[in-house]
Amino acid sequence: MTPIQALQKYFGYSAFRHQQEAIIQHILDKKDVLTLMPTGGGKSLCYQLPAVLLDGLTIVISPLIALMKDQVDALNVNGIPAAFINSSQSTQEQIEISTRLKNNQIKLLYLAPERLFGKESKLMDFLKSLPVTLIAIDEAHCISHWGHDFRPEYLMLAGLKTEFPNVPVIALTATADKLTKKDILEKLNLKDPEVFISSFNRENITYRVIPKRNSFNQLLAFLDERKEDSGIIYCLSRKSTESLAADLKEEGFLAEAYHAGLQNDVKARTQEAFLRDEVRIIVATIAFGMGINKSNVRYVVHMDLPKNIEGYYQETGRAGRDGLPSDAMLLFSPGDAIKLKQFAMVEDNPDQSRIMLKKLDDMVNYCQLHACRRQFLLKYFDEDFPANCGSCDFCLTEFTKFDATLIAQKALSAVSRLKERFGGAYVVDFLRGSRSEKIREEHKQLKTYGIGADISKPEWQRYLRELTAMGYLQVTDDMYPVLKLTKKSEAVLKGLEKVELVASQTIEEHQPATEALPFEAALLNELRNIRRDIAQHENVPPYIILSDASLQEMATYLPQSLDELRLISGFGDIKLARYGREFLLPVKNYSAKNGLSSKITHKVPKRERKAKTERTASSGRSSDTAKESFTLYRAGKPISEIATQRGLAPTTIEGHLSFYIYKGEMEVTELVKQEKIPAIKDIVESYGAEKLAPIKEVLGDDYSYGEIKAVVAWMRKNGDI
Ligand code: ADP
Ligand code: ZN
Repeated sequence: MTPIQALQKYFGYSAFRHQQEAIIQHILDKKDVLTLMPTGGGKSLCYQLPAVLLDGLTIVISPLIALMKDQVDALNVNGIPAAFINSSQSTQEQIEISTRLKNNQIKLLYLAPERLFGKESKLMDFLKSLPVTLIAIDEAHCISHWGHDFRPEYLMLAGLKTEFPNVPVIALTATADKLTKKDILEKLNLKDPEVFISSFNRENITYRVIPKRNSFNQLLAFLDERKEDSGIIYCLSRKSTESLAADLKEEGFLAEAYHAGLQNDVKARTQEAFLRDEVRIIVATIAFGMGINKSNVRYVVHMDLPKNIEGYYQETGRAGRDGLPSDAMLLFSPGDAIKLKQFAMVEDNPDQSRIMLKKLDDMVNYCQLHACRRQFLLKYFDEDFPANCGSCDFCLTEFTKFDATLIAQKALSAVSRLKERFGGAYVVDFLRGSRSEKIREEHKQLKTYGIGADISKPEWQRYLRELTAMGYLQVTDDMYPVLKLTKKSEAVLKGLEKVELVASQTIEEHQPATEALPFEAALLNELRNIRRDIAQHENVPPYIILSDASLQEMATYLPQSLDELRLISGFGDIKLARYGREFLLPVKNYSAKNGLSSKITHKVPKRERKAKTERTASSGRSSDTAKESFTLYRAGKPISEIATQRGLAPTTIEGHLSFYIYKGEMEVTELVKQEKIPAIKDIVESYGAEKLAPIKEVLGDDYSYGEIKAVVAWMRKNGDI
């Protein structure tokens, strides 16, 4: 059997991803390999497929018990005999596994490193008596002090090459910085290893960073559009995971906390419930996630600043393993950076401290970035990427700039007059001529006091942030950060340099970069239920039966026979034989009932499909597209679901619906609560409705763009504006 045949037969996939094929070929040629691939890239397949093709046993070293169980379940469901040995098992279970091993009935054996080299362990001798043909070391960065997840027991793996000198080793990791890479190669004693580095770009993830203000409300606004989705929310402290989970529960979300301080059985239960879609949201410290294979995590939120880019990228990478559009959002406050700095100092180790601080600095730079975030992230991993990715907050925002030299001069001279001794809040109040007692009497006598009264507080705050990002101001790293001038300030103050600032930020209207397929939503629901029932029956998480992406393909292409079903991604021979009919029947019934036929011939490889859907000009189609949203809405679908179904942003759908408010076919109160209308109306009356961003900024987080759009449409209809 060739590798590609095995890919289809055992895994149900029709093409290799990244460099999987070359990596697999190297292993089959008995060569050592180091594989760097992003989370969700498809690392496991690189050793699982050779394991199937090779005669003998593949040993997989993996750090986490949870991961092992998951992988073993997934392999068994695909008809590949696999097992793990770890401390959670009874002696009886372990004896059964060794019998199966002796009889060559197992293709892959998962182990934690400490099992292999434990002092009294006879395991090594036993393994050496078996026909071991491949050793895979997962999460290989755990061997390095420089990595973000050093595990001392990984150091013992150096002994593997001595114990099994003729067995090829494949080391795999999603962490790619140079130091770690070098460490892995040295410490594992790999023989003439070939290093495969895949692109770290995760094209289906959209990256956003927003300034942290009222974080809970900001989170609710984000979750509001994602009520049915699974997500992970990361917090820095154990306590905050618990309180946030409790708050979310109160708001009606299926949320649970997860951190290292919880009882093991509580952790296991929570994890299991999350995998089974019974818990939608995990609020976790970074203790959670490594080894979480759940493929339909739709979003990852960071409520606090991560310590370094490596960790952040791994954590965000847990979203969208199934390849469907997913979101990463980070709430940033400079205060967090100051807090973390204290933690970054490693006692008695100035070198290590310096590295940690540098990494934290990079993380802060990422948050304050005024450029494509994806490009920055990939550059961090030594990869070039064009400047406009189309799916990060920067690339999705249309910026209008204006000459803000005068504004900049006012801000800089205020900082200078205040002797560079005050923070942003004070400077803003001073500029606006606040009568508050907090402003010192002597400052109220200065000429600069009140020279910025014509600009609103939130606007001033944004301008100061931007001036800082542009290097005209700097914020000190102290406990109480103050604004200071920089080398660049003087030219502006003397009128030698012009400054441009962003006038307002138009909201996202672009289509997401990844195409969402037009699928039959009712059918998808039915298929989900079938999957849930099968999963319960087989006692595994639903996504191990089939991924969301597979279900979505079925609901899109409506396969009418087993042969057609085979073309759906994820259906290997075993899955087809085991579950094919169970899924086929409802698809056929649904199609018959609705007069639909198979669209399987439309299924083209992903790459071609993407090329075809380069952004289409929408002007001619806008009324049709609005109508489609309106029809779906009238059919009772929530906005979030319409958005997913149509592959558009929820704000776009809200825009469509507003058009019908304007036409008088929909009541404004369908989208906005009665009591919220006067406030929006007020602001629109005084600011106009040309730009929504300033209105939103004044109204704050309690009001969504959708609500503002709806009220504006309604006011237009009434001739109020
Ligand atoms: P990683 O270990 O790199 O984070 P996984 O090995 O868990 O990633 O793979 C992520 C997902 O991609 C899994 O659901 C896996 O089955 C799927 N996958 C892997 N290779 C392919 C492929 N060639 N085609 C389609 N899906 C794949
Ligand atoms: Zn971008």
